[in-house]
Formats: sequence, structure tokens, C-alpha cells
Amino acid sequence: MPVDATLPYDDANVFARILRGEIPATIVHEDEYAVAFRDIAPQAPVHILVIPRGAYVSWDDFSARASDAEIAGFVRAVGTVARAAGLVEPGYRLLANVGAAGGQEVPHLHVHLFGGAPLGPMLAQGAARARAR
Ligand code: 5GP
Repeated sequence: MPVDATLPYDDANVFARILRGEIPATIVHEDEYAVAFRDIAPQAPVHILVIPRGAYVSWDDFSARASDAEIAGFVRAVGTVARAAGLVEPGYRLLANVGAAGGQEVPHLHVHLFGGAPLGPMLAQGAARARAR
């Protein structure tokens, strides 16, 4: 179910639980500002989620409230993870869903990193709409 990204942070969300070590995840990167782990239901040969350590509901919340150090640390971590996964030369895609229309399901900011194969049109729905025009 998509979430309302304008609600206050819910400390019981699944990524908060992964950060606290309460549930397992295949972690591929950890630093002061970010943690990255494999998506439990991958939608590409490589599908990694990168999350900030701080309690931010969405990209909107993060971009409005996070410190410059947190923002820099998180953005650098996304790049580090992509490089370490060997995604730069073949290319990859970043995605952050925000709120209901974006289809965000977990209310802790996460950037999806997709790669390992040609990823097709940017939005499947958009391609279908474009074809119908
Ligand atoms: P969203 O739709 O919020 O952008 O994406 C949430 C993502 O989190 C989905 O791709 C989903 O497969 C992934 N996910 C949900 N629960 C878990 C979990 O417990 N562990 C991991 N590793 N990924 C999860």
C-alpha cells in the first residue's frame, strides 16, 4: 500500500527495523550517513536500496530537513554503492518514489539502484501512454 509521505516518521517501518538490526538484510555498504542493502524482491539483476541513517520519511522530508552533511554523505554513498556494484560502465538507474502517486510503500527515504541489464523505458506506463498518442 502506498504511504502518505506527509505523515510524521514512523519508527516501526521496516527500514528503521533493518537499521536497528531487528530484521536481517543483505547489507552491501554501511557508513556514517547511509546503509545499502539488496531489495527483497528485485526488479532488475541488480536492485539495491540506499537509505540514510537519519529518520526521514521521503526525499521531500530529507531535502527539507536533513543537514548539509547528511545530504552530502547520502548522495556520496549512492555513488559509492553504484561504483562498487560495477554499475557505472554499463549504466544504471536511480529512483526514489515519494508518496501515494509515486507508489512509495516504505516510509523511510530510499533510493533504488537498478542495473545489470538494459532497463527499458523510464516508465512502463509512460511508454504505453506515449504509444497511445
Ligand atoms: P517503494 O515502493 O517504497 O519505493 O519500495 C520499497 C521497496 O522495499 C520494494 O522494492 C520492496 O521490495 C522493498 N522491501 C520491502 N520490505 C523489505 C524488506 O523487509 N527487506 C528488503 N531488503 N527490502 C524490502
